[in-house]
Amino acid sequence: MSLSLQILGASCAVPNPGAATSCYLLRTATTTVLLECGHGAIGKLAGQADPGDLDAVVITHMHPDHCMDLVALRNYWFVHRSDRLPLHLPSNGPSVLRGIAVALELPADYFDRVFDIRSYGPEQPLTIGQLRFESLRTRHNTVANAVRVSDPDGRNLVFSSDTGWFAEFEDFARGTDLLLLELTDARTPDGPDRWHLCPRDGARIINAAQPSEVLLTHYFAASAAQILQDVSEACPGVGVELAVEGESHHVGH
Ligand SMILES: [Zn+2]
Repeated sequence: MSLSLQILGASCAVPNPGAATSCYLLRTATTTVLLECGHGAIGKLAGQADPGDLDAVVITHMHPDHCMDLVALRNYWFVHRSDRLPLHLPSNGPSVLRGIAVALELPADYFDRVFDIRSYGPEQPLTIGQLRFESLRTRHNTVANAVRVSDPDGRNLVFSSDTGWFAEFEDFARGTDLLLLELTDARTPDGPDRWHLCPRDGARIINAAQPSEVLLTHYFAASAAQILQDVSEACPGVGVELAVEGESHHVGH
């Protein structure tokens, strides 16, 4: 058995040229889960796999660069499938999604007709086929869940979602096989309320958590080389790479 991660979208809220915002495909031999569904995600997914083969979708938070292509997936599923696709959202997600439908002057049950909408969070771990998801509320300006995804053999990855630095995340990510870490801020911003990671804070997490492998994601293309250099120099002995659209990674060994 193996667990793989395919990068479908690694842009932050400003899409990089020709690229999609947050979207990742998780696969085992019998389970396929879409993690995040930002702008442009479903076109990227359709280029790699049949969206109709998904077992479920998991969204970490309801910012558009993490969920807005649920509209496209809803339409794909409506055309190609007659059952409903399980959609796991953070605690505020069901009401936000219904609000989007109303704001677009669509029926309030526009999404419910196609998605089996459920919420999850730190108190509600979820299991989808062979994959178990545990979560931790991050430091972001909306409800957001970092997730730790494990297969039955113990292989696991941690996705930070969007967050500022906080100590509990270092414990949550400790020893993971693959840390998928958002790194949007090329420099450390002023002020105490930080909702994204910068190289200094990302390196602090990596050095504390000691993952086997790190992929930096959710970045501006223009600053990607610099953030990779800054984080790599601050984390000797840890393999750090950029998440690149289309690439697949085996999780663990
Ligand atoms: Zn966000």
